[in-house]
This record gives sequence, structure tokens and C-alpha cells, in this order.
Amino acid sequence: MQLKELGEKIINGYKITREEAIELYHAPLEELKESATKLTRHFFKDDLEFCCISNGKCGRCTEDCKFCSQSRFYDTQIDEAPLKTAQEFYEEAKDSAKKGIHRYSIVTAGVRLSQKEIDTVAEAFDRIQKDSDIKIDLCGSLGLLDLADFKKLKASGMTRYHCNIESSPNYFKKICTTHTMEQKEKTIAMAKEAGLEICSGCIIGMGESIEDRVDIALELRKIGVDSAPVNVLNPIKGTPLEDQAPISEEDIERTIAVFRHVLPDVVLRLAGGRLKIQSFFTNLYDFGINAQITGDMLTTAGLTVNDDIQAVIKSNKVISKIAAK
Ligand code: SF4
Repeated sequence: MQLKELGEKIINGYKITREEAIELYHAPLEELKESATKLTRHFFKDDLEFCCISNGKCGRCTEDCKFCSQSRFYDTQIDEAPLKTAQEFYEEAKDSAKKGIHRYSIVTAGVRLSQKEIDTVAEAFDRIQKDSDIKIDLCGSLGLLDLADFKKLKASGMTRYHCNIESSPNYFKKICTTHTMEQKEKTIAMAKEAGLEICSGCIIGMGESIEDRVDIALELRKIGVDSAPVNVLNPIKGTPLEDQAPISEEDIERTIAVFRHVLPDVVLRLAGGRLKIQSFFTNLYDFGINAQITGDMLTTAGLTVNDDIQAVIKSNKVISKIAAK
């Protein structure tokens, strides 16, 4: 089938098959780009959303995710830190809103937060949402929580929950052995039941195959996500993936274009690894990206909101809504 025809069908609600998605990955790059741009424009016009993440609690994680600097299985020399206070979160959110960032997310290391820690996050969200000067949406990435936790956090002002599936169902087992994708999906289902939006994505460049990349997109479609962050592996010294060869620019472009065709109305967000792709990340807006995490990542440096705005301006991309509600 011609790409143009397929794009029209997708706009009209067609869900592409695994076989079509794999074929799409190998399509001529210019055609893929044109089709992905058309879909992005159709579903999102030319808006670009910025969010930022707070490293709310860092290190000493009991899990063994092979990409992660915060796992206690690996010698990564990161600074450990307990959960920030409600006041610290409040100040950060206020500052982020002033910079024009649309979403503020608290991200914490570990399987899940304790009840006391959840109360601290809920207190922070409550204060932020009650301050009419702070216009920012609130997200959390706090581990494998349960329904009661989600209800409490939603009542305090959190609107979206983040829990990455990280990779394909098949490849995930090679990346993490201390918890399962099923546990993550159960968590996501409970967050949905509590009425929260879902942000779930992946890390590419961990040695996964093209089929795995397609399967990630299909899994996210099955879960029904609202936003999908795409991280590009930033190999951390001391982790098992420290010597992983980088994924090529073209493979990143193809992966994102396939994501756009499988997840046409889902926000596709550039996330970790921003410095690795600094020289070309604005090209990815032509392959389906329409959001990005700005500022530092959890334990690695990122680009500031000003760096991001300048890069967008320099690229001459047609972006109508940037760093503004
Ligand atoms: S990704 Fe999360 S769960 Fe996995 S090791 Fe890092 S902090 Fe722990």
C-alpha cells in the first residue's frame, strides 16, 4: 500500500498492523517524514509542549534496570538523596511555571514511595494547585502504586501518571529481572481507573531490534497512553549498558515515524538523552515529535528551556505554540 493512502486511512481511524509497521520502518525516509508530519499536523497542528521533571528522590533503588544510574546493583557514583520536602517541590513548580513550562512532574527512584512519602507529594501538589498564580499541570512518576494511592494523588491535583514500559514485552526481560512489565501494566491500569491520564514510553538504543521498536509502539497502543516519552539511551558508566553502541540518527527518525503512525493521536515526547541528540533533535519534529522534556534529566544534564527555545527558533520549524499555555 502507498504511504499516502495508509496515512489517510490512519487519519480516518485505521490501526496499522504489526506487519505494516515493520514495512513502514523500511520505507524511503523522505516519504516516511512527509507522512509522519502530515499525521502530526492533523492531530496536533504545530504545537510543541514542554514539561520538566524533578528528581524527587534519588538512588539506592532495589531494582536492576540495566540502563539506570540509580540502581544499587551498579557502581555509578551518583549522589543519593531522600525525598524533597513539599516546600521544595512547591518552589520548583512555581519556578517552572514562570519559565512557561506546561507540565511539572515529580519522579522518584525505587519500586514505590511509602505512605508517608506519598503524603508529602500530595501535600506539594495540593499547595501548587491551590496557588492561583501557578499555572502548570501536575504529573507523577512514583513507582508501582495502588488504586488508593492514585485516588489520593488525583484528589491533590495530579492529572497524569508516568510509568515507562521501557522496551518491548520481549526485550524488557533482558533489561530488568527484579520486576515485570505485567506489574507496570497493572499499575497503569489502576492509575487509569483512578481517572488519571497516562504517560508511558521507552528507551531506544539499548540493543533492541527493529521488531522490538515496533512492538513497543503496539504495546503502548494496547495500553492506551496519552503521552509517550521516547528516551535515547545515554550509557552511564558502571551500568551493564555503559558500552552500548549508539543508535543512529536515521534509526531514531524511523522509530519515531513508526510511533507516529501506530500512535497517531498520542503526544510523542523527546525525553532523556537530549545531549546525545543535541545536533539534530529539532529534525525529529518532522518525524512525529510534538513535545519534549526540558531542563536536566534525573541524574544527567539536559538542555535548559532557553536552549530549547533557541534551537527551535534556529531550526525554522513551524511551531506555533511554544512555552506558552
Ligand atoms: S529505572 Fe526506576 S526502578 Fe529501575 S533501577 Fe532505576 S530507579 Fe530503580
